[in-house]
Amino acid sequence: MNEICLSQYGAGKIDETKGQPHRVLIVLGPPGAGKGTQCKKVAETLRIPHISTGEILRDHVRRATATGRRVKSIMESGDLVPDSLVLSMLAERITQGDCANGFILDGFPRTREQAESLDLYLSARNRTVAPLVIRLVVPQVSLLKRLASRHICPTCEASYSETIQPPRVWGKCDVDGTPLTARLDDRRETALERLRVYEEQISPIIAHYKKCDSALEIDGDRLVDDVTIEILRIIKNRSSRVSAFEIQ
Ligand code: AMP
Repeated sequence: MNEICLSQYGAGKIDETKGQPHRVLIVLGPPGAGKGTQCKKVAETLRIPHISTGEILRDHVRRATATGRRVKSIMESGDLVPDSLVLSMLAERITQGDCANGFILDGFPRTREQAESLDLYLSARNRTVAPLVIRLVVPQVSLLKRLASRHICPTCEASYSETIQPPRVWGKCDVDGTPLTARLDDRRETALERLRVYEEQISPIIAHYKKCDSALEIDGDRLVDDVTIEILRIIKNRSSRVSAFEIQ
């Protein structure tokens, strides 16, 4: 039996909304693959929340909470935060009312234990079908270029890059005008470590989801809108087979 289970952290208490299927989309991919950008766009279309474990952790670091102080140096080194901490954070998030009809996970699961924990949690829910897992594939050379030019808004976490997604006014967030900053963990040395950790962890996760026949790979090395269109097409195709995803 899996030792780490989301329900241990209180995630079993979520309310179901009557008659609504529960939709869970997981977007996997290495740092710089565009997970955050794609998840935001898809979340707006599906009208379900986008949950980025990295964003939640960075928010803790910015606010210097006890969690933030604990994870700061781990994140700066490019390593993964312990499963127990991430699972309790996720359990707290997915039990909020806005997740009752589903959610999109970005940056989770990062380990097989996290994937198994999510399975246990979802299988305990009556109307939930297996999550749809989409993996963005981007060559390392493009990833390193993207990470080197990535700037984020410290207020809303919108992500920009000089080449593929420049802001309207360079240095300022389009959404709220906040000056953009580079992420400390996007520095080359840390970025390389994060890519190494990703490669180490991803095979067992892919193997895990291949068993459920719900994992698909797509080419993420294209224009942002082209990738979004393909993700939405996959979701639509799947929703014609399983009434779990409906584009509203
Ligand atoms: P991301 O924004 O997804 O690139 O995540 C930034 C950093 O947050 C990672 O390098 C990890 O240190 C930490 N992190 C985010 N999600 C997870 C997770 N599911 N498990 C462990 N660590 C995570």
